[in-house]
Amino acid sequence: MKIIRSLRTMTQWSQVQHRRGDTIGLVPTMGALHAGHLSLIQRAHRKKSRVVVSIFVNPLQFGPHEDLLKYPRTFPSDAQACRSHGVDVIFYPTVASLYPPGFKTAVKVLEVSDILCGAHRPGHFQGVATVVAKLFNIVQPDIAYFGQKDAQQAWILQRMVADLNIPVSIRTVPTVRETTGLAMSSRNRYLSAEEKDLALFLYQALRVGARLIQGGERHSARVVKKIMDFLKAKKHIAIQYIALVDPIEFKPVSYITGRVCIALAAWIGKTRLIDNIIVSPLR
Ligand code: AMP
Repeated sequence: MKIIRSLRTMTQWSQVQHRRGDTIGLVPTMGALHAGHLSLIQRAHRKKSRVVVSIFVNPLQFGPHEDLLKYPRTFPSDAQACRSHGVDVIFYPTVASLYPPGFKTAVKVLEVSDILCGAHRPGHFQGVATVVAKLFNIVQPDIAYFGQKDAQQAWILQRMVADLNIPVSIRTVPTVRETTGLAMSSRNRYLSAEEKDLALFLYQALRVGARLIQGGERHSARVVKKIMDFLKAKKHIAIQYIALVDPIEFKPVSYITGRVCIALAAWIGKTRLIDNIIVSPLR
């Protein structure tokens, strides 16, 4: 497994693979790898591609009061995990090489970047789209893998490649959960044991919503209210948003007629967590 830090070396490596007729699968991450990330890597291997994992804690996607400085950086164990999962290259660029002095460009997918998580994290999705566009140009993957855990991000990046004619296919991979149901996240490391017990209620709350919909409820507002009541009863969970959106258009849904994504964000102590599930109403 190669560890490549230079942008130019990364592009040259990819060009060699393409000349050999190999395809390249890219798994963009911010490191602190867990089983969720590893499932993306496993999915990339299914295509018999060469697999590149990028590890980059992207300052552009953090707000001024967010956790950029304390975000876990665990490169040695990440490298070990990648090696044991057959990754061909870890692309591990520096901030200065991706954002040299004079850097001025941003990529923003309009509208969807400003709802749900975007409404509470101004500039976040612009930072994500900008760095992913750069990673695509540098690594030149054929396919890139993203988690359903960050459903809004995956949707925005699909839109970006379509709108900008970027020749990369985006694949979305199901959320990997702990046996308790808690969605795996690098930020789960911030949680104390008590907070982790509380965090389990987020998935349970989504299941409450799913059961309602599958039991025939069609009004999103009533689903949201029931989820909210469930979480409020648990105390010490500060709900940021609960929303139902159409997974195809990523637009808010008020009356449920088909598959719907229930998404939420909440603070558990000082940690902000997100989760979502897609529900098909029974007919
Ligand atoms: P991150 O390092 O948190 O930026 O995540 C990198 C990629 O891994 C993103 O595409 C995430 O959606 C994905 N990911 C994070 N957590 C999970 C999970 N629990 N299951 C599946 N994919 C995940």
